[in-house]
Amino acid sequence: MADNTTEDDLRHLRRCVELATEALESGDEPFGSVLVAADGTVLAEDHNRVAGGDHTRHPEFALARWAAGRLTPAERAAATVYTSGEHCPMCAAAHGWVGLGRIVYASSSEQLAGWLAELGVPAPPVRALPIREVVPGAVVAGPYPVLAEEVRTLHRRFHGAA
Ligand SMILES: [Zn+2]
Repeated sequence: MADNTTEDDLRHLRRCVELATEALESGDEPFGSVLVAADGTVLAEDHNRVAGGDHTRHPEFALARWAAGRLTPAERAAATVYTSGEHCPMCAAAHGWVGLGRIVYASSSEQLAGWLAELGVPAPPVRALPIREVVPGAVVAGPYPVLAEEVRTLHRRFHGAA
């Protein structure tokens, strides 16, 4: 559980879980993310879109590229990325290169790795690392146990276990 968590943070995280559910229901892996401006405006949201075969189509990567094309460096630094699951190294790197601000995640990469191992899912080709291993200056918060449990249920459903 993280410090300085607000009701707004939890509301945005719940939206991420909804987006992850939408991904699952459209046959994709359950991950969802929201990009929020300093004033609380939701700028963009997305969910995982890897079912077509392009495994770089993670929502955090899409939001980083969205921000790079539309926001000033100051706006990016002041924005927050909310996500149902902690960034993978690719998305953490994109976040760092684009200069986005705080990251708030519902469930951690470590939790996900544990859940997938439990389900007997083969390890992915890219190692899971904490965001700060990739972006040392990142400001991160998470995981949040109640929401993480919901995310766990989505992953179990995706792998046919719930
Ligand atoms: Zn990713």
